[in-house]
Amino acid sequence: MLQLKDIRKTFGQNEVLKGVNFAVYKGEVVVILGPSGSGKSTLLRTMNFLEVPSSGDMFLEGESMLYREQNGNKIKRDPKEWNQFRMEIGMVFQGFHLFPHMTVLENIIEGPVHVRKQAKEEAITYGESLLKKVGLSDKRDAHPFSLSGGQQQRVAIARSLAMRPKIVLFDEPTSALDPELVGEVLSVMKELKEEGLTMVVVTHEMGFAQDAADRIVFMDDGNIIHEAPPEQFFGKNQPDRVQKFLQRYE
Ligand code: ATP
Ligand code: MG
Repeated sequence: MLQLKDIRKTFGQNEVLKGVNFAVYKGEVVVILGPSGSGKSTLLRTMNFLEVPSSGDMFLEGESMLYREQNGNKIKRDPKEWNQFRMEIGMVFQGFHLFPHMTVLENIIEGPVHVRKQAKEEAITYGESLLKKVGLSDKRDAHPFSLSGGQQQRVAIARSLAMRPKIVLFDEPTSALDPELVGEVLSVMKELKEEGLTMVVVTHEMGFAQDAADRIVFMDDGNIIHEAPPEQFFGKNQPDRVQKFLQRYE
């Protein structure tokens, strides 16, 4: 589905991604774990062009997102061409990022109507079905500020799904929430997994990683240093670095 090859990213002198190779397959849930500053957010943001890689290439369903062929030559894509890929890759952030002046439903149909150029009625019908899915049909006409953090994050998830993305990236979707609100967001995400949505999730929720991940990827200092299915990842014989990281959650 989505593949990264030897992705590097530098900020000034600081190389934050040091040649990352990564792939997520259709219907798969990959959880990314790793210490603070290891490059998890930068990696996710790169997949959605919020950061542009310094080198390497990225492929969506086999098609390069960074280069195109012209007369047999590999040419860097114009940033305008990134949008066609960006539409297919949803992103959910720690801080929700809803439009404060719009209602819940307006937030959800904004992308489909203005970016996807979908008919408004169609976007509304689909948006309402997504609100039902995240359990917020009664908040259709509310404004974000009147919602709890957990409700806002569920709206943000519905908004990302409204674009009918091929894959959704989550960057610590529950880290800004009060503990009692974490569960409602994670259970929506588990439901999406059951429905076959392809997801990449950066989280510190080890329970979610254990239950919902098909594969866990561990980042340290700008690189993926280990990956394994959860039963193996949380089992015995992990690399020292992983063991040291997991000890903090025991
Ligand atoms: P956390 O768990 O704290 O969210 P992370 O694994 O997501 O950490 P990143 O946010 O990707 O880590 O940051 C990796 C490194 O890149 C850090 O050293 C950070 O200071 C640096 N960095 C990230 N974004 C920028 C930026 N826009 N400009 C300069 N440096 C940056
Ligand atoms: Mg981060």
